[in-house]
Amino acid sequence: MSSVPSAAELLADIATILSFGIRQPGHPGDRQAENWAARRFTELGLEDVALEPVELPMWESAGATLEVWPVGDPASMRRFSGFAAPYTQDCADLERDIVAFDTTSAMDQIVVEPLAFTELPQSAVREWATSVFDPDGDFDTLVQTLPFGPRLNLVLDPAVEAGAAGYVGILTGVPWETCRYYVPYDAKPRPLSGLWLSRADGIRLQQALGKGRHRGRLNVDGRQSRVRCHNVVGRLPGRGDEKVIIGSHHDAPWASAVEDASGMALVFAQARYWAGVPESSRPHNLEFLLTAGHMAGGAGTRAFVDQHADEMPRVVLEVHLEHAAAEVRGDGERLHLTGQPEPRWWFTSTEPGLQASVASALCSEDLRRSFVLPPTVFGPAPPTDGSAFYLAGVPVVHFLTAPMYLFDPADTIDKIHVPSLEPVTRAAIRIIESVAGRTAAELRGNA
Ligand SMILES: [Zn+2]
Repeated sequence: MSSVPSAAELLADIATILSFGIRQPGHPGDRQAENWAARRFTELGLEDVALEPVELPMWESAGATLEVWPVGDPASMRRFSGFAAPYTQDCADLERDIVAFDTTSAMDQIVVEPLAFTELPQSAVREWATSVFDPDGDFDTLVQTLPFGPRLNLVLDPAVEAGAAGYVGILTGVPWETCRYYVPYDAKPRPLSGLWLSRADGIRLQQALGKGRHRGRLNVDGRQSRVRCHNVVGRLPGRGDEKVIIGSHHDAPWASAVEDASGMALVFAQARYWAGVPESSRPHNLEFLLTAGHMAGGAGTRAFVDQHADEMPRVVLEVHLEHAAAEVRGDGERLHLTGQPEPRWWFTSTEPGLQASVASALCSEDLRRSFVLPPTVFGPAPPTDGSAFYLAGVPVVHFLTAPMYLFDPADTIDKIHVPSLEPVTRAAIRIIESVAGRTAAELRGNA
């Protein structure tokens, strides 16, 4: 392997991306990120660098508040500041009874529901994996805290279906103090007004409601509009007339480091490495992609797959690189680094040669805490930004981790698992090299 970009180079890219500020889809920081990414691709030697337009739903909010008081005693009002649930309706002084959520009595009420993040024993994931690299045996006892409850992005939907007017999600089962939970991010407008309250505020609210009937007043600021963002693409010619695509996304919930400044840096590292390899030694044509609108329902990848539908049958492999994440524990107030990487998921199409190459790359690069998983282990497609490729029949290897802070401003540069940056880069190179001489038809089992 010729020289691989260093962790310091990847960290420098991550720091630059963070300097753009919040990268929510269509926001100024995301605009800067996409323009800078195009310049970076050019600087690294890619050809045909282009910004391909993607229309997507943008959401903005200046905040949300809840006031509650015992019926008949408005002087005892308490006021809570929260975070508007993305893509819910804005409202001014929406006043209703406020009650614990119950599907039978939620109609036209403001409902309160606690959220607890899912605790996933790694011994269970191991049962679903086609292979595991865990030489320390961590998966025997490790339990991962996911950044979702059991309903994932559909967390508000039972309240919507029950006809609630307002939704107050209280993050009482989240292991640190925050209300800024950027979920749901499927960009589906929901016909109610919602906000998230932190763990401590949630406990105070529950205590107040336990003392008798209360009224609530919601103010949620949330504006939705259509906006034009861009997928950023660049190419390197290689052998033959088929290609490998290497992607991640440039938008984020916040000025997020792991999600996915780390993925962008990993894609730049691939671009830099393969630009230094002679054209005749590149296993296929290579295409590099940083998509828009991951936080708007994966709009960018879906648009890319639609816009390039005729090319999909000639894609040998699509590699998505997301989240070089450090593991944390929460003490209820704050997060603390454990020094370990978050468990790594390598969603891999069920083609035996490909599965073997991924397993061998993880072992060669000592990427501990790794699972090779079938793409459909958690649903109809991998829960990655690249899922639309899988749904279009393209063979995939998607690297993903799901640390609990993924949708929170706590995703700062200290959450990057620096010792993973070079080995993940080298593993991705090995995986791409492993499809040299293999065809798109062969990887699909059609040869
Ligand atoms: Zn991501």
